[in-house]
Amino acid sequence: MMLVLKNNIRMIWKKCLDSVTFSCMKNLVDSIKEIQDCEFFENIDLTKFTTFKLSSQGDLIEVKSIEALQKLLPLLSLHKKPYLVVGWGANQILPAQCSELILHLDFLFEPSYLETLKDEYELPASLGINHLTSHAVKFGLKGWEVFTGIPATLGGAIYMNAGTNLGEIGKLVKSVRLVDQQGKIREEKITAQSFSYRKNNFVKPGEVIVGATLIHLGIDELIPQKIKDYLNYRKTTQPLATKNCGCVFKNPLKELPAGKLIDLLQLKGVGVGELRISPKHANFMENSGKATWDQFKTLVELINFEMDHFYGIEFELEVKIPYH
Ligand SMILES: Cc1cc2nc3c(=O)[nH]c(=O)nc-3n(C[C@H](O)[C@H](O)[C@H](O)COP(=O)(O)OP(=O)(O)OC[C@H]3O[C@@H](n4cnc5c(N)ncnc54)[C@H](O)[C@@H]3O)c2cc1C
Repeated sequence: MMLVLKNNIRMIWKKCLDSVTFSCMKNLVDSIKEIQDCEFFENIDLTKFTTFKLSSQGDLIEVKSIEALQKLLPLLSLHKKPYLVVGWGANQILPAQCSELILHLDFLFEPSYLETLKDEYELPASLGINHLTSHAVKFGLKGWEVFTGIPATLGGAIYMNAGTNLGEIGKLVKSVRLVDQQGKIREEKITAQSFSYRKNNFVKPGEVIVGATLIHLGIDELIPQKIKDYLNYRKTTQPLATKNCGCVFKNPLKELPAGKLIDLLQLKGVGVGELRISPKHANFMENSGKATWDQFKTLVELINFEMDHFYGIEFELEVKIPYH
């Protein structure tokens, strides 16, 4: 009798909570819909928003201006609604059901801005850095070869301090503009401490990068060829035509690449379900179709088990996953 009563109370309490959560979420969604340049998409298929293409569902907001973001972030904070930005999703994995709101930036950019050579470039965070590589090829911009072939938005590349063995993007960033949770714009002046290996040291929780000023290191007529050669090199060393998320793990040391260690244990080609360690580059995983979040976690655990067993080390993820 007591047990039935307890269960009934629990059910009524859960129904109350569900209805409060539902009505809070409805208020939030109604308020978001009133913001100009914000478009809300409820529980949509998010699979196409990452290059890895693990199947994922969730809510997404397309933000088309900085002003809209300045109104949106305080609203999300007020409702204690967690969110995360997805750029090209080239270094990001989303779970099957995403509880965070996904923010996708799509700021206006006039392509003619890149038709002329400048000393400094003020660029929006949502711009694909492939446009910057094309500009570097056209004018021979020294320094800009470092991000050759990296699939990224400028915001994502700065957040990750993306780079190749030619260098890192951080060295070319003069300042970064961010919007904080109160909707205020903050300008971060970049110093030698602002970046480290595959990370920035200045984006605070809840802040969103909205733009940056980039410099170059002069003009060098050899840059176009250097970029073309590096693109060809990437084609032969990385599984670019597959569904992947770039390097899964950070290199434990610069001279100790994670891919080399995985390769030494002959794990290339090893897989779980529709997911396998790339036969071309051991720090890449390839999704051959319908790979899942659980299969990804299992394969990461398997690799880390082997690493611990043979080398006594555990890799740190380079790829970003929510709640991590
Ligand atoms: C085939 C392939 C090759 C790759 N090769 C390289 C390589 O050579 N070198 C390298 O460094 N990386 C490489 N990567 C990984 C990836 O391209 C980089 O990490 C890139 O910087 C990710 O940019 P993105 O716009 O896709 O960011 P996302 O993957 O969408 O996001 C990455 C992180 O940045 C955050 N973020 C994104 N935009 C913003 C913003 N505006 N404000 C605040 N936070 C933001 C996200 O929340 C997330 O935590 C490769 C990936 C692939 C698929």
